Amino acid sequence: MTTKFPIEKFKSLPTPFYYYDIELLQQTLRKVASTLSAHPLWRMHYAIKANANPRLLNIISGMGMGADCVSGWEIDAAVKAGFKPESIVYAGVGKSDAEIISALNHNIGCFNVESEAELSVLNELAGSLGKKANVALRVNPDVGAHTHSNITTGLAENKFGINKEQLEDTIRLTFTLPNVTFCGLHFHIGSQILDMTDFIALCNRINELSTQLQRKGLPVGDINVGGGLGVDYEYPDRFPFADFDAYFDTIGRHLLLHPGQQLHFELGRSLVAPCGSLITRVLYVKEGIHKQFAIVDGSMTELIRPALYHAFHRIQNISSSEPLERYDVVGPVCESSDVFGKAIDLPRCQRGDFIAIRTAGAYGETMASQYNCRPLPKAYYSSEI
Ligand SMILES: *Cc1c(COP(=O)(O)O)cnc(C)c1O
Repeated sequence: MTTKFPIEKFKSLPTPFYYYDIELLQQTLRKVASTLSAHPLWRMHYAIKANANPRLLNIISGMGMGADCVSGWEIDAAVKAGFKPESIVYAGVGKSDAEIISALNHNIGCFNVESEAELSVLNELAGSLGKKANVALRVNPDVGAHTHSNITTGLAENKFGINKEQLEDTIRLTFTLPNVTFCGLHFHIGSQILDMTDFIALCNRINELSTQLQRKGLPVGDINVGGGLGVDYEYPDRFPFADFDAYFDTIGRHLLLHPGQQLHFELGRSLVAPCGSLITRVLYVKEGIHKQFAIVDGSMTELIRPALYHAFHRIQNISSSEPLERYDVVGPVCESSDVFGKAIDLPRCQRGDFIAIRTAGAYGETMASQYNCRPLPKAYYSSEI
């Protein structure tokens, strides 16, 4: 399954814009749904922050998945897009009172609580509304992930979660608070993880913790293993699907669960990254002394990942089949980091050629900014164009 670009139709559209391959998204969701259907106690909560485009959210909620939110506004967006409130989980180290109140009023399924301080505030606010909040404790498992340091979250030095050493006390604290109900443990070790041994390490750590807690007579509740499965940014057409089989198989085989214990997942990137491309036009080809630049009309304000963490995206000239030449592909924004790729071989570029920056469906449109007073990007969909 490879994304086909309707170039004739693109010609009437102002660039840059996001183009979503809806058939690819649906196939991806169906793959995941078919695995889940074989496991009645497994639940998927799509991580809204990867892409909160309402059209995509509608499709994902329509598959019966839940949502993983990291802000009150994401909860609003999720509910609006049809996610059932009871299927929404809410994480974040800095939930404001207004966000907590809004989440309580939506009657979301579970708060993934990251500190004792937050737990007390949640208990108070729930009490003031006459509600009882379901709580999973987010544990910092002190498990590394072989990914970029900006997107590891499960090390003791990271701000996320409750330390293993403090977990027992925090679970006990939940029992003393009248307006919260302890319902499980939550983990999330990072993003763009391709090495299954990282997930094995997470499972081993969860098993260890569960055993320790049970020995002390403490319940563990349900387990939420978070998200983080990576995608292939190098070869978007050869590998349009994340390796869901390896991922679910790894977790299924290594995580020890009791009968009746639910297992929650929060995949974001792997569900939406492959279906999105940023489409931009070549404005100018500029000859430097030792190199040439393809200056395009898209920039870091539409897709910040290359500038933010030197992320690689496959760049294609979808208008030209001329011989390859080497370019630095750069945007117009006044930052030297506004570069999509250096020394990229592309069919010879001319003004007006369409350039597709692939695998941009996750952490692309959601991270767009208006720096330089640029407008937020528009989106078009393969099903409607
Ligand atoms: C970002 C995030 C996810 C999703 O991560 P992906 O790498 O996109 O799968 C899941 N859970 C939490 C708590 C997150 O913050």
